[in-house]
Amino acid sequence: MNGEGRLTLPELYMIRTLLGSISDARLSQRIAETEQAGALTRDFPRVRAQIESGAASGTVWVPYGAEPWLVTMTPPTPPFPGLVLVVSSLKATPPGVKLLSRTAEGDALGESFPGLRVEWSDNRFLETTNRSVPVAIWVAGLAMVLGIAVFCGYLILRDVNRDVHMTEVRSQFVASVSHELKTPLTSIRMFAETLSMGRANDRAKSEYLEIIVNESERLARLVDNVLDFSKLEQGKKIYRLRPTRLDEVAGSAVRAMQFPLAQQGFQLHVSVDQEMPELQADPDAIQQAILNLLTNAMKYSGDAREIDLRLGARNGDAVIEVADRGLGMAPEEQKHVFEKFYRAPSHESRLIAGTGLGLTLVAHIAKAHGGRVEVESEPGVGSTFSILIPIRAAQAANGVHA
Ligand code: ADP
Repeated sequence: MNGEGRLTLPELYMIRTLLGSISDARLSQRIAETEQAGALTRDFPRVRAQIESGAASGTVWVPYGAEPWLVTMTPPTPPFPGLVLVVSSLKATPPGVKLLSRTAEGDALGESFPGLRVEWSDNRFLETTNRSVPVAIWVAGLAMVLGIAVFCGYLILRDVNRDVHMTEVRSQFVASVSHELKTPLTSIRMFAETLSMGRANDRAKSEYLEIIVNESERLARLVDNVLDFSKLEQGKKIYRLRPTRLDEVAGSAVRAMQFPLAQQGFQLHVSVDQEMPELQADPDAIQQAILNLLTNAMKYSGDAREIDLRLGARNGDAVIEVADRGLGMAPEEQKHVFEKFYRAPSHESRLIAGTGLGLTLVAHIAKAHGGRVEVESEPGVGSTFSILIPIRAAQAANGVHA
């Protein structure tokens, strides 16, 4: 096999049989070449005719076979009359270079191969001498690494910002809860001390007692809100649903707010649709939601002194509406009012004490009943909050975790 001499096709077949299953690429190639040489010998009259037909316009190279081979014949004149030249297009050229036969393009291969030309790509020498990664790939890789680094930086920064924001919000929350706790406690203490000194007459006494009771209730509501919010955060808030009449629940809420409303000179207009059906609800939770809405209506009323509480039914939902004619809110603020700790940044709202939890709880209570809260508001005109609860909500009557 390694010898220089030519082997005939039968000899080559014999070697392959002797080698058996050992595959040898060189042997296969030699067999293919010998077979192609035999075929060319047989086909030569046709190939020769092709060569001679174009001989007038110079040397013609005829492609032959699969590789292909380029075949030509020297003219019938000395020094080498009628010499057949065969060039393997694959073997004669390194990778990336194409051997052409009959074309005007490409560069002449040399005097020994008249009429044979080569063609190579412009960056062929660059590619073969410099096998390193192209600059474009380096640049793209670098850009990608930089992009990933910047993106990771952004994520870290965002997390840090969020943490900082949350810390600020929480400390602000602690400050506002402390403030809200202190206010009723101060008045409870002040009126209790006045009473204990025995200086007040009977009329004043009953008024002070009423204030003490009312402030205690306000305190209890605030504590309830904070405790409920913490249960809600931990996913431990439980709603106990039972057949409930919303007008009765709203009545209790109105009674609880009567004193503070009257004290601050508010007029509450209550309207109840006669058709109010009974529904599956947690009456304590619904009352808490109504109280939160009424408290907000009072807090954010500005100079206005009228509040409406409307109960009714609309499109299969029971609707509880609390409307004020006060400060109102910009559309941007309305989008966030149900988020925890959110307080509208407008100056007037900022001056009013609050924790940013009231509406979060209202929204949660509505959702736990299969419903939702809606807000309509216009700055300087007022706000209307509506709790909508499906009348035939498919809820279990014994309890809902939310
Ligand atoms: P807060 O304790 O601050 O009142 P809420 O969750 O009840 O918390 O309300 C969130 C924010 O929504 C309030 O800070 C206020 O800016 C705005 N808001 C709530 N109710 C009203 C209303 N009736 N009119 C105008 N703004 C309101």
